[in-house]
Amino acid sequence: MHGMHGGPEQEDSGDPLASALRALPQVQRLLETPEAAALLARLPRPAVVDALRAAVDAARADLQAGIGGPPSPASIVARAAQMLDSADPPGLRRVLNATGIVLHTNLGRAPLAAEALQAIAEASGYANLEYVLETGTRGPRAPAIEALLCRLTGAQAALAMNNCAAAMLLALSALAAGGEVLVSRGELIEIGGGFRIPDVIQQGGARLVEVGTTNKTRLGDYAAAVTPATRVILKVHPSNYRMVGFTAEADLPSLAALARERGLLLVQDLGSGAMQDLRSVGRPHEPTPADSIAAGADVVAFSGDKLLGGPQAGLLVGSEAAIAPMRRHPLLRALRLDKLSLAALEATLRLHQDPARAFARVPALHMLAQSDATLHARAQRLADRLRPPVTADIVASTAYAGGGTLPASDIPSVAVALTVPGASADDLARRLRLHRPAVVGRVGGGRVLLDVFTLDDADVPVVADAVLAALT
Ligand SMILES: *Cc1c(COP(=O)(O)O)cnc(C)c1O
Repeated sequence: MHGMHGGPEQEDSGDPLASALRALPQVQRLLETPEAAALLARLPRPAVVDALRAAVDAARADLQAGIGGPPSPASIVARAAQMLDSADPPGLRRVLNATGIVLHTNLGRAPLAAEALQAIAEASGYANLEYVLETGTRGPRAPAIEALLCRLTGAQAALAMNNCAAAMLLALSALAAGGEVLVSRGELIEIGGGFRIPDVIQQGGARLVEVGTTNKTRLGDYAAAVTPATRVILKVHPSNYRMVGFTAEADLPSLAALARERGLLLVQDLGSGAMQDLRSVGRPHEPTPADSIAAGADVVAFSGDKLLGGPQAGLLVGSEAAIAPMRRHPLLRALRLDKLSLAALEATLRLHQDPARAFARVPALHMLAQSDATLHARAQRLADRLRPPVTADIVASTAYAGGGTLPASDIPSVAVALTVPGASADDLARRLRLHRPAVVGRVGGGRVLLDVFTLDDADVPVVADAVLAALT
């Protein structure tokens, strides 16, 4: 073309746009840059090629619109990387929990013990999931878990499945379908995430019969409501709230006696499932499955990832007569746990056999047992690692067990309060959330608060590096 249109000076300097467009690198050349190699190391080649092509097209459009100068190859690759990262929602990432909420449902509830991680690694290949090593034949699925649950709770029989909601669905489907379930009006609760007791009863094919009033339900209210269709008395632990004031409820032993007398089953949805006595570390008492079994409950349901401190799971313990129909129920097949969760659950239950070991090794319990001195020292070490322009003050904070457990108990804690001149707390909090690893704290009083209750000592340098990288 240039031969037809004029002299050399026109080609060199007369049309900078055309030469900039011609100078745009080809996708093939971009693929050879070290920046693209980094992308290729973590993403499939076709996706990287597509993004590079799109980034070159965008750079061409910018040049034609007069936006900016000629882009470097590195900046085009960076643009492609941005397109790739914003194309999909972020995947599961590590989060450093600085909220002070131990069983934070949105952050995955209980962090697992090192022993549970080790067990997951061992089971991740082939494992004797349903196989008897002694005889080389097919066997029951993870029988050790049922034996451990029986030993820990004093129950005759046990079953493990996906979560406590699934456990309640199975229990009511197997024990009450076509019949009536008596529940106190004070216990018709929603646990969160749309888990409502009346809905689960209906889904289980049973009819809900409300007894008593919102604030007072007596044994006589249950007794008066029993009909020939009644199958189950359901007692629900008010996990995520407390009733205070003019209240009354029937206790488990008297409900158990009533159930026996009338040929009914007493089922308790305990939820939080504390396996250890939390009073031993200065926290309020949370009823244990062993308490419920001793009080005469036929079936107790609880979660694996609340105060048990294990993987997501729903556990049922109770009498052989009550558990047997659930073991045979077709729903169990649909609700069963995978081998990785079973491995983590078994390892966690083994730790609970020794209370001292449980409080030392199960992270959620270890956190609940922390002393004020530990928290202050951790906050001080975090604050000492931060430097201008970040200012860090040590302030009093409040931690919570979370996950609908110990609802009425605020736990005194310590936080590091962050400010950076010229930046709002909301902006700082967002930058920390988007950092890798993400740091999730709270915003309060115009500052970002990092509660150290839910951080491990080993997390402190990681959090400090993340704060400095994200905020400076
Ligand atoms: C948390 C809770 C549930 C739900 O447990 P998941 O394991 O999350 O399904 C059910 N009932 C009670 C009383 C709870 O506290």
